Amino acid sequence: MFEKVLIANRGEIALRIHRACREMGIRTVAVHSTADENAMHVRLADESVCIGPPASAKSYLNISAILSAATITGVDAIHPGVGFLSENAKFAEMVEEHGFTFIGPSPEHIRMMGDKITAKQKAVELGIPVVPGSDGAVDDDVEAMKIAGKIGYPVLIKATAGGGGKGMQVARNADEMAQKLSLCRSEAKAAFGNDAVYIEKYLGQPRHIEVQVLGDGQGNVVHFGERDCSLQRRHQKVLEECPSPALNAEVRQKIGTIVTDALKKINYRSAGTIEFLYENGEFYFIEMNTRLQVEHPISEMVCGVDLVREQLRVATGAPLGYGQSSIKFNGHAIECRINAEHPRTFLPSPGRVTEYHAPGGLGVRVDSALYAGYSVPPYYDSLIAKLVVHGTSRNECLMRLRRALEEFVVGGVQTTIPLHQQLIAEPDFLNGDYDIHWLEKWMAKG
Ligand code: ADP
Repeated sequence: MFEKVLIANRGEIALRIHRACREMGIRTVAVHSTADENAMHVRLADESVCIGPPASAKSYLNISAILSAATITGVDAIHPGVGFLSENAKFAEMVEEHGFTFIGPSPEHIRMMGDKITAKQKAVELGIPVVPGSDGAVDDDVEAMKIAGKIGYPVLIKATAGGGGKGMQVARNADEMAQKLSLCRSEAKAAFGNDAVYIEKYLGQPRHIEVQVLGDGQGNVVHFGERDCSLQRRHQKVLEECPSPALNAEVRQKIGTIVTDALKKINYRSAGTIEFLYENGEFYFIEMNTRLQVEHPISEMVCGVDLVREQLRVATGAPLGYGQSSIKFNGHAIECRINAEHPRTFLPSPGRVTEYHAPGGLGVRVDSALYAGYSVPPYYDSLIAKLVVHGTSRNECLMRLRRALEEFVVGGVQTTIPLHQQLIAEPDFLNGDYDIHWLEKWMAKG
């Protein structure tokens, strides 16, 4: 096992990784920007290194500063966390070139899944169902119209270099096509410096369902069921649940087998997530994230697994040591993402936390790096806590979540706690009856 690991991240996820290391007897090195000097991940780590000024580009994305910190502190491995450099194939390569272990998949797999078109082509090759559409980029408008006519309107025009929900246009009919194509191309050119687009069938009321996987790079791959992340605002997840209220055991097993069979073929290593849109009983691949996800704790709660521990273990070259039949699904878990934002306008609300009390009790987990007196810096993602609640049934989980939200006190900054309180009282949510557009429609109603 590793003796010392550098955590190339900040906030709650850095703490999450620190905790797994600690429990395995591994020492940790935190890196931080000057804005994060007093952050909890820095206070708890065995050692820490300042890697630059507040702007992420100069600190948490500064590859040479991170590699220098790893060299100076003599670590064995680097965990990239989520966001920042976690899906940067070049970074993974450089980590290995400098003699450290990258705790994640191979650079080849990160690269394969990082480009939307190659990822989709690979998915088809591996037997994963995809959204019907063009085979790759379409340069020519006449060709684009022909494809759209064949798959049927409405269609979604997507920038191949798109990301973060940007670079997408819906064309409802053939008359809209030319205008939407040129709009998408010019937006993509401006945002990503690349105007290549491709075409997909536009799904009207899908759910976002993703499957958590883990492989050891030696041909063994298991899945930990699915997460339903359909409650989204501007394509950003707000609340996630496991299992999905829309799937039964048979469908879960079917999609789980498709995914694990596919990843066995490429000898996938580490944790990963395959994201699907799910409509009328059909799954459509949208992307694969070759890293840990923010919402991984709900799968951990239901399956009783520590995914970061597993990532660390397989990174040393250890085999999984268990198969799919050892993985049991127990009860229900929900995660609320608590952001330092106004609960309705979503305007960021950085500043000093004057009061902090996290809920506790049976089945309640809070992943957060907050403490009273801490100042939430304005430079980074506004996620300040993840409230993760587990119950033996969905109903028990919902009742527990309601009381846990009541107990949560964060003073001095605005948070999305009141939004979650309202959301989980909505009949549609209680009935599990929602798709990826539900939240925005609900918000529009005021
Ligand atoms: P990004 O990389 O920008 O996040 P994705 O391809 O993952 O782009 O899609 C982001 C979101 O856009 C999805 O979660 C879904 O809400 C919506 N979306 C993507 N493809 C389709 C589609 N074919 N039909 C309907 N909605 C879609």
